[in-house]
Amino acid sequence: MDFPNLLTPEYDTTLPSGKNVKYRPFLVKEEKILMMLKETDEFSKVLTTMKKVVKSCLKDDISFKDMSYSDLEYLFIMMRAKSMGETVTVTANCDKCGKSYPCDVDVSLISTNREYPKDTSVILNDGIGVVVKPVSVDAMPVVAEYSEKNPISVLYFVIEAIVTPDQMYKFSEMTQDDQTKFIDSLTLPQLQKIMAKVEEFPKCAIKTKNICPHCGEENEIVVEGLENFFT
Ligand SMILES: [Zn+2]
Repeated sequence: MDFPNLLTPEYDTTLPSGKNVKYRPFLVKEEKILMMLKETDEFSKVLTTMKKVVKSCLKDDISFKDMSYSDLEYLFIMMRAKSMGETVTVTANCDKCGKSYPCDVDVSLISTNREYPKDTSVILNDGIGVVVKPVSVDAMPVVAEYSEKNPISVLYFVIEAIVTPDQMYKFSEMTQDDQTKFIDSLTLPQLQKIMAKVEEFPKCAIKTKNICPHCGEENEIVVEGLENFFT
């Protein structure tokens, strides 16, 4: 049967990594898939579903192998916000009177908490350094499982390359033995320096302003850690 095609709106956005993409909001078919998510709290299943729905709503072809997890999370929340116009309720603390109060935040105001770092390298010593990258979508299940128990294991997924004054070694092309040898040879301050650089990658955040019901002060509200609301 011939039936009229509905026109789906299309949006442009800039991902936390700086890349521009076009997408459409979730439709009923994606909502159906997401309903099934309510029955699971297994991260790998949640991630597989997020990838599936984001891929079908993206107008651009994108590989999850190189995409950062923040980019995926951002797209997922953005697509969902455009389709449902959701709000989340958070507890805000007033800067002036110090009292806390519940505050509704419009999810479509999502952006990132900072710019993508211009320089992603960390100098360790004598001109030896590393280049870091954000955790990719495909590495996220492993990172989510091990980062609490063993934070050092995260290093394997965030080091892009080791650089010396005249050479650059791609970390993914080194053997696991060599990777471990390098990581084991780091001092604790060097380790902290690398992890601090990784923290500089932008994360999804919702920023808005709100009036305190106790004293009338206008407070700036920043909500981070959005995965807590949506998975
Ligand atoms: Zn107040």
